[in-house]
Amino acid sequence: MSEHPAVRALQDLVRQPTVAERDPARTDPAPFVALRAALAEHFPRLHELERVEIEPHAVLVRWPGRTDAGPVVLMAHLDVVPVEGSWTHPAFGAEIHDGMVWGRGTLDDKGAVVGICAAVEQLLERGFVPARDVWLSFGSTEEVSGSTATDAVDELRRRGVRPWLVLDEGGAVAADAFPLVRAPLAVVGVTEKGVTSVELVAEGAGGHASTPARGGPTARLAAAITALERAPLPLRAPAPTLELLRRLAPHLPAPLRPVLGRADRLAPVLTRVLRAAGAEAAAMVRTTVAVTTLSGSPALNVIASTARAGVNMRVMVGDTVDGVLDHVRRTVGPGIRVEVVERNEPSPVSPWDDGAFALLERITGELFPDAVPTPYVMMAATDARFFTGLCDRVYRFTPFRMTKDQRATIHAADERIGVADLLAGVDWYRRLVEELPA
Ligand SMILES: [Zn+2]
Repeated sequence: MSEHPAVRALQDLVRQPTVAERDPARTDPAPFVALRAALAEHFPRLHELERVEIEPHAVLVRWPGRTDAGPVVLMAHLDVVPVEGSWTHPAFGAEIHDGMVWGRGTLDDKGAVVGICAAVEQLLERGFVPARDVWLSFGSTEEVSGSTATDAVDELRRRGVRPWLVLDEGGAVAADAFPLVRAPLAVVGVTEKGVTSVELVAEGAGGHASTPARGGPTARLAAAITALERAPLPLRAPAPTLELLRRLAPHLPAPLRPVLGRADRLAPVLTRVLRAAGAEAAAMVRTTVAVTTLSGSPALNVIASTARAGVNMRVMVGDTVDGVLDHVRRTVGPGIRVEVVERNEPSPVSPWDDGAFALLERITGELFPDAVPTPYVMMAATDARFFTGLCDRVYRFTPFRMTKDQRATIHAADERIGVADLLAGVDWYRRLVEELPA
């Protein structure tokens, strides 16, 4: 049976293992070159549009519109994270089983690349001209915090492009996103938490494991980690989270509706409920702190003279990096050095009460009538944050239905997208472009 052209395109893209490395010199260029060739082959009309190459393998495409009203930028990324874990079907095989395309990148983020390109290709085929310029910005270093998104922003700035709307990956049409709510939530990220990382360093006398002293570096580091775990940052209910609760209210069991309907007045109660509702919900109401890397002695019979722990923090809207760092320093105490590795503030909050968001809502209602569209605070970092300096309306939404299981496969094993869901996503992007106001 011959599959839809968009499905074949996704399969060809997924078969290229476009894994970017933090050190660009170590990235294998061959899969990226092949992926770009596959894009040209599957989307020949799009390929004829004006293109700006962004090193190493990213691309910026301009599709001229009828008017010079502020353009729209549709973003996605071509790189993927490495494969780990054991997969039911080969990670770069792009095999179809049970109505799903399986493989690394199907959800993050080659599905969106294909969704956008297939939509544009269909419209070009019909001779359609968008109401305003549409730019496509496909980065190649998103997963390694590389420079392609900032370079794309610089290029647009040089050209004096002031977008009206920027749309990147982010929320999805998420089933089982909220306890007790049966309708899927079409969550549109209107801001994202800031990613900030530190290393906790404890130093002291090392030596032979046969003559240990009390309070050595490893023990102090362990105490510091435990202290951090026991001192979470204060709960916060930023405006997008309260709006999400308000929009959920009618979809909750009757006794709970009035509570969420008055979400803003009941913020303190609700944030406590969210905190108790599991890790996903808890991350919506505070800055999170996760200890990730750990190192100490390399040998079983040697006491470490230096012990280190990496701490990755996601800074909530309403908190600041300085405030969070103060909290960390106070909590771990004077015996631990706190080295800042990276610091990013939460992104500015884009509006959900104007025409751009209303357009996203309307198209979402057309394609996913059972879903509840709502703004939210995105937990993960995206390239979209670099566009907030260029545009006030930066939204993070990938128009694909995803089950809870599927969401858990992003950056993990068995990533897969439903064939029908991919095609609905193509339709969503196409409707968005068709409906752009002049
Ligand atoms: Zn991604």
